Amino acid sequence: MPGTEFFGEEERKEVNEVLDTTCLFRYNHDELRQGHWKAKALEAEVAKFTGANYAHAVSSGSAAVACALAASGIGYGDEVIVPPFTFLATIEAVLYAGALPVFAEIDETLCLSAKGIAEAITDKTKAVLLVHMCGAAADMDGITKLCNDKGIKLVEDAGQALGAFYKGKSVGLFGTAGAFSFDFFKITTAGEGGLFITNDKDTYTKADTFSDHGHSHIGDSRGMEQHPFLGFNFRISELHAAVGLAQARRLGKIINLNKKNKKYLKDQLRSVEGVTFRRMDDEAGDSATFLNFFLPTAELAQKVVARLAEEGIGGANYWYTNMYHFINQWDHLKELRSAAPLAIHALGTPQDYSKLELPKSQEVVGRLISFGIRATWGQEEVEKLGADLKRITEEVLAS
Ligand SMILES: *Cc1c(COP(=O)(O)O)cnc(C)c1O
Repeated sequence: MPGTEFFGEEERKEVNEVLDTTCLFRYNHDELRQGHWKAKALEAEVAKFTGANYAHAVSSGSAAVACALAASGIGYGDEVIVPPFTFLATIEAVLYAGALPVFAEIDETLCLSAKGIAEAITDKTKAVLLVHMCGAAADMDGITKLCNDKGIKLVEDAGQALGAFYKGKSVGLFGTAGAFSFDFFKITTAGEGGLFITNDKDTYTKADTFSDHGHSHIGDSRGMEQHPFLGFNFRISELHAAVGLAQARRLGKIINLNKKNKKYLKDQLRSVEGVTFRRMDDEAGDSATFLNFFLPTAELAQKVVARLAEEGIGGANYWYTNMYHFINQWDHLKELRSAAPLAIHALGTPQDYSKLELPKSQEVVGRLISFGIRATWGQEEVEKLGADLKRITEEVLAS
């Protein structure tokens, strides 16, 4: 999955250009930077790949979600529907915006379902913060229709889904704004970094302003800029952007290799009776970072995971118990432990997070194994892996 599989000369060249000019700052200093604008070039690269009208790089994927929420007008006291299966950054972004997360059910798409969202909507629902998990899009036909019908804003956390499309449209472009992450574990990395995209000029301007202490970024003298409203520092440095730029240029290549390797493994598992796959309504739009498959029960999934570990086969993620991406591991959230009081402490929780019942999500994540795809696997490696996966799942299912 990580773009670091291809770390090389291109990254070094981009970083060295920044070091040579000493201009580590993304704005102004036109003379010093000798024509090198890494953050801008990264934005242009992602805008081209996704087809977004606007792209803006920031310091992390978490920051990109925060900017997307702020620019969408989501803040104090607003109820925001979120999934229980995501990276915690999604929920933290809602909480630090002063808003209130409302958990809804996911389904076999591994994302919030239109049905799950519909059941969680109340009079106070302001937005859905949809997460495109494990490299592919949610049910965008169902969810965009629901949000439009109900007049609810849609914001997309596509932290794990850069390069994923749904019926020809990039994730992140279905609602007001979308966020990507370039942290160390993502399909392309900047070390740390993130980026938001939108097709709406006003949303872009707001997010851009918010990401840099309210600077308007109009004119060429930073000290003399206007400040339409308050923001914070979510800027990306030119050093990070330089790495992210070299990586982003490889996105298409990585996806193609991922797809080829994923298809091979999936074809092997297809013949195993009892194994099913993550629902994707547009498989061609998958960024193919994970092969997500289900066993008939959680117990069987755990047996497969244990057998893979016994045989020393790496790559299997079992989010249900041993990873940080599922609500079952979020005790600090359930108890609302924070460094300092948050809006939610004063306003009260819209649900009792410690007693949430999300049977569908529990069932889906319990049965799920996410196998990380590597773009750099050789043919022999993939063939061995495919044979091992098939044999182990067959043996577990027969036992
Ligand atoms: C990685 C990730 C983030 C946060 O990205 P960072 O760059 O690590 O801050 C947010 N949401 C999801 C779904 C992610 O996977």
